[in-house]
Amino acid sequence: MSDILVLGAGPAGAAVALGLKRLGHAVRVVGEGRRFAAVEGVSQRVLDGLRQAGLNQALACAAAPSPRRVLWNGDGQSINQECLLDRARFDAALRQDLREAGVEVVEARVLKVDSGADGHHVRIEPGEALRADFLVEARGRSAPLAGGRLRGPETLSLLNQWQDAPGRPGSAVESLPDGWAWMARLADGRCYWQITLDARDLPPKEQLPAYCAQRRRQSTLVRELYGAAALQPASLHARSSTAILFHEASGPNWLRVGDAAMAVDPLSGNGIFQSLSSALQAPAVINTILQCPERAELARRFHQRRVEHLFLRFARTGRDFYALEQRWPGQPFWRERRQWPDAQPLHAAADFSQVRVERAPVIHGDLIEEQDVVVTADQPLGIWHLQGIPLAPIVTALQRGEQGRALEALPEPQRRLVQGWLLAQGYRP
Ligand code: FAD
Repeated sequence: MSDILVLGAGPAGAAVALGLKRLGHAVRVVGEGRRFAAVEGVSQRVLDGLRQAGLNQALACAAAPSPRRVLWNGDGQSINQECLLDRARFDAALRQDLREAGVEVVEARVLKVDSGADGHHVRIEPGEALRADFLVEARGRSAPLAGGRLRGPETLSLLNQWQDAPGRPGSAVESLPDGWAWMARLADGRCYWQITLDARDLPPKEQLPAYCAQRRRQSTLVRELYGAAALQPASLHARSSTAILFHEASGPNWLRVGDAAMAVDPLSGNGIFQSLSSALQAPAVINTILQCPERAELARRFHQRRVEHLFLRFARTGRDFYALEQRWPGQPFWRERRQWPDAQPLHAAADFSQVRVERAPVIHGDLIEEQDVVVTADQPLGIWHLQGIPLAPIVTALQRGEQGRALEALPEPQRRLVQGWLLAQGYRP
């Protein structure tokens, strides 16, 4: 059995470690707690992902959905919901989930990693060394990310925090001439305000607290959510929020997951969701690399393609959301972001003549294997099953003109399901 070491105990590292433990691998996690207080908003599908990963203590940290006001492109009507997460509590609960599952968690800072074909030597604070055969890099944006294969416009988020009296929780997001701001108020009175700007437009570091105070003062939404207390002094933390896709998502004896593989623009509000998505597939990828070395390249290709696909999907989602704000078309912040990463539509139009059957890597149980999948314009990675029904034989038969044979063998409810899917792909009998 190989020794696997996971660097970082955020949602991605925790989900991978739990998955590997379940597959019977010897896995350890080394991670240090977050160095700043932050609150983040998540949707129901993040809660579903946490449940799927078995991260139940972490799941319990999510506050009940609270109203979120959206003031975008001058439209102040839009109201939806999000669940607020106190990240320090959430991160501690992730470590608790790991310990309860029997995963060893070393609470320490990773100082240096030396990797070679014979394994990895990891130096941790205060100077101890750990050795591993396989390494999972899950240190989020703190993982070495220099360069990156694809990098969005350089972006910085400034986070202010202050304390107010307990009250009704809620959050809001508003577009500004040179960026956007997200704000949240927890039931216990903790208040967070975060402005995201182009990294090139910022005043010098020593002027940032006064700059933030002035920006808060200018916002009517800030006054509505927090009242006059928003103008009191606040702590400040700056962090990069540039979208970055790392060069390679894996090597022969290492794998990157979560933000360490691809960090998305926080505007999409999907950071934790994407980090769980790449982490939930990783145990099967690592299991294949270690148990079936002849399929290691296939498994790595599977991981790489999915990471790139997710990154581009979120980058295009962000681009389309930036494009909805039309009041400042000449401002560099908006001009650049509504064009990045490309002009391709988020969803390609259905066209059955473009649908084809291909061999591609898929997850089957705990391993990656190659199967016939159906590739469509909107699903370039291919679809193997539709609720358990293999699609490739059906599409092949239809393309040969054997319409009856393709569908007749299926029981009625399944036939209707497949017919619905085919119509959505542009198929016309
Ligand atoms: P992380 O959560 O960053 O976890 C990495 C872990 O590794 C941390 O525990 C860290 O302490 C540890 N670590 C780092 N370096 C070391 C080291 N040297 N030694 C030991 N341990 C180390 N996502 C949302 O879903 N909703 C939001 O509202 C939201 N808002 C965001 C706002 C901003 C400004 C930014 C930048 C991101 C936001 N995100 C949001 C994204 C979200 O924070 C990340 O996508 C998500 O946490 C990534 O999970 P991860 O496990 O990959 O990395």
